[in-house]
Amino acid sequence: MVMTEKEKKAKQKIYNKNYYDANRKRLIEKKSQWQKDNKDKVNVCSARYKRKNDDKFKEYYQEHKGEYAKRQSKYQKDKLKNNPEYRRKFRLRQMSRQISGSLKGKSCINCNSTEDLHRHHPSYDSYDFIILCRKCHQDLHDFLSGRGEYNEKYKALES
Ligand SMILES: [Zn+2]
Ligand SMILES: [Zn+2]
Repeated sequence: MVMTEKEKKAKQKIYNKNYYDANRKRLIEKKSQWQKDNKDKVNVCSARYKRKNDDKFKEYYQEHKGEYAKRQSKYQKDKLKNNPEYRRKFRLRQMSRQISGSLKGKSCINCNSTEDLHRHHPSYDSYDFIILCRKCHQDLHDFLSGRGEYNEKYKALES
């Protein structure tokens, strides 16, 4: 008896499912090992995914704002207590904010957005900062940590 394409596909599907069920644990281990061995690839992918799905993340963040804030503040407290370098940077950021005042009416140096503005400190030896919106700031840090791609806008930050 000759199987049709459809039957072949159905059979293959069942075979794949059985194979997956039988080897589930091993396959998951293999995947997580691959992720461990290929951290840079995973990071590039997740950075790219994050950028592409920015709205989804925003929505998710809005829904879980409270949890995030709690986790963030605990993380920050611990870090301030245990990490002198972090403490120094934290204080410098605070001082810088006090000196420069509100960012109201300012805009992102990259895309001119006036919403969700951040201060990026190119160096923690001075109070100087540049103004970037959340998204451009994220992009910049992705680039600085080797996860993102080079963008013309970073030229302004070199020197
Ligand atoms: Zn921007
Ligand atoms: Zn920054």
